[in-house]
Amino acid sequence: MRFFNTETHQIDEFVPIDGKNVKMYTCGPTVYHYAHIGNLRTYINEDILEKSLNYLGYHVTRCMNITDVGHLTSDADTGEDKMLKGAKREHKSVLDIAKFYTDKFKEDCDKLNIKWPEIVVPATSQIDEYILFIQNLEQKGYTYFAGGNVYFDTSKLDNYYRLTNQNENELMEAVREDVDVDQNKKNKNDFVLWFTKSKFDDQELKWDSPWGYGYPGWHIECSSISLKYLGEYLDIHCGGVDNIFPHHTNEIAQTESRVGHKWCNYWFHPEHLNDESGKMSKSNGEFLTVSLLEEKGYNPLSYRLLCLQSHFKKQLVFTFDALMQTENTYNKLLNRVKGLNAANLDVNKDNILKYQNDFKEALENNLNTSNALTVLYDVLKSDLNDAEKLYLVKDFDQVLSLDLISKEEEIDSDLKSYIESKIEERKQAKVNKDYELADQIRKELEEKGIIIKDTREGTTYEIIK
Ligand code: AMP
Ligand code: ZN
Repeated sequence: MRFFNTETHQIDEFVPIDGKNVKMYTCGPTVYHYAHIGNLRTYINEDILEKSLNYLGYHVTRCMNITDVGHLTSDADTGEDKMLKGAKREHKSVLDIAKFYTDKFKEDCDKLNIKWPEIVVPATSQIDEYILFIQNLEQKGYTYFAGGNVYFDTSKLDNYYRLTNQNENELMEAVREDVDVDQNKKNKNDFVLWFTKSKFDDQELKWDSPWGYGYPGWHIECSSISLKYLGEYLDIHCGGVDNIFPHHTNEIAQTESRVGHKWCNYWFHPEHLNDESGKMSKSNGEFLTVSLLEEKGYNPLSYRLLCLQSHFKKQLVFTFDALMQTENTYNKLLNRVKGLNAANLDVNKDNILKYQNDFKEALENNLNTSNALTVLYDVLKSDLNDAEKLYLVKDFDQVLSLDLISKEEEIDSDLKSYIESKIEERKQAKVNKDYELADQIRKELEEKGIIIKDTREGTTYEIIK
């Protein structure tokens, strides 16, 4: 498996620390509003990465935070807390807002077949961890206290910028929505670990700490949660490209200062989805959500397919025209799969191997989902029998997650394996001369509307609905 690693700025061979067990951390959503379909493109790509690793035989333990405190309107340390802004907008409490939008995010993930990570942790549930983390950095001399806040001193590090190729000034311009220099900082890129004072002093959620009554900075959340749930050595850390600086750069700075060694080997940063006017934003009026796509009559899985048709390291511009075309493609695909009839056909494993290998190769090659889709079309066009085609469609859909096999068909295929296992059991009973058991199996099937017939070619069956 090879994929683009921001840490080395190149496509790297993936070698997990612990053999086939992979530890993966995902920066979760800031739950102050609905996720836009841009945010969800990142989660679709991360989902594809996790499922591809599973398909290739790895076991992935994945942890995600839910940012319900500390993420300011600017990704640097200026601006209002996004959560508080959301609460004011809707005249609700921060906790109500967090609960509502976490549930909505989960619903969107379900609609897009994005697997919910095994470990999901709201940031507000880990305050003690952040305090311990900051105390540890303090003891090691990486922090200073100024103007009521605890800062991380970036001048203590030799290689603060290693995740990015850009220079300091370009980076700061990219993250500042409001140019507002914090006079307390000793160095331009120092960042807040714990706030007790900010220009916006009406923060709703605050906690006691050794530095005063206040709240944590955004970056400390992910580092603490990752260390607590996944340990000191991490294989993959994910987030959209906007997270590279300052969020992930700061996460590396503080985590490695704490653990005293390299923390994470692979940084997975999918590129953004833009709209025709440029950057996606939640600040102006109606924005693109999964619900909006549904209101306009689209299937959310057409959007998933749209994302899979492009490469995760390429920006994608969303248009409704493109979505409409993809929905047509998706419906055609579903119809082709529906037209397959596997009844009384066998799957020859030798025939399907080549396609499985091609599919694996596409994923292994920097997660090339569009090539993986081409392999799916190759299967449908091939001279494999329908049972083999269906087998492969189901197999590939473990990664693609496009519901290519309808629930009814899945039930049909489960029923088929149930009947076949019963027929085999009955055959064995007859070999053992246990005619009573053989009869019992026949009756059991009959009660379910399945009539079996013994012919010279073997046992066949008919389902009477
Ligand atoms: P947030 O809720 O702002 O914390 O962002 C959640 C995730 O969406 C993060 O991984 C961001 O990097 C990612 N993200 C933000 N904007 C976009 C976009 N336009 N396209 C793709 N991913 C995005
Ligand atoms: Zn994060």
